[in-house]
Amino acid sequence: MAAVPEDAAQTWRKEPERPCVYVWNERCLVMTLRALFCLSLLSMSPAALASKCSVELEANDAMRFNLSTIEVDRTCADFEIRLRHSGRLPKAAMGHNVVIVKSADLEAVDADGIRAGAAENHVKPGDTRVVAFSPLIGGGETASVRFNPARLDRAAKYAFFCSFPGHSALMKGELKLVP
Ligand code: ZN
Repeated sequence: MAAVPEDAAQTWRKEPERPCVYVWNERCLVMTLRALFCLSLLSMSPAALASKCSVELEANDAMRFNLSTIEVDRTCADFEIRLRHSGRLPKAAMGHNVVIVKSADLEAVDADGIRAGAAENHVKPGDTRVVAFSPLIGGGETASVRFNPARLDRAAKYAFFCSFPGHSALMKGELKLVP
C-alpha cells in the first residue's frame, strides 16, 4: 500500500520538463532572462564595437600581411587600419608600416619612400600621392592609420603596402571601396 504513493512521487519527479512553448513558468522566465543577458553581452563585445569602420592588420617576421584585401565602407566618416607587428625582429631589420595609395602610384611612392629613409617612415615627406600612412614599427609594436573614405576617388583602384625597403613585393594588398 505504501509503495504506491512512493512510485507516484518518483514518477512525478522524473517527468520531463515541458518546453516553454507549452508551459510558461519561472524556469522559463529565468531561461529567457539568461538568453537576453547573453545577447546583450554579445552586442557589447569588442568584435561588435570594432565595427565595419576599422580593421586589424597583422604583419610578421616572414615579411607578410595577414590580409590581401581590406574592404572600406565608404559610408564611414573615418576608417582606421590598426597594424600589429606580431614578430620579434627590430624595426631596423624587419620594420613594417601601412601606406595607402592609388595602385598606379604604388611603385613610384615606394621608390621615393625608400630614398626618404627610415627616419621618415619610408614615405617621402609631403607626398601628395599618399592617402595616409602609419609610422614604421618593429616586432611587438602596433600603429594605426586613419583616413576619410569619402576622399577616395571611386573610379580609382587603391592599395595598401609596406614601404620598408624590399617589402612591397610581398607586403601589399587591395583596398576595396564598398559599396
Ligand atoms: Zn614591412
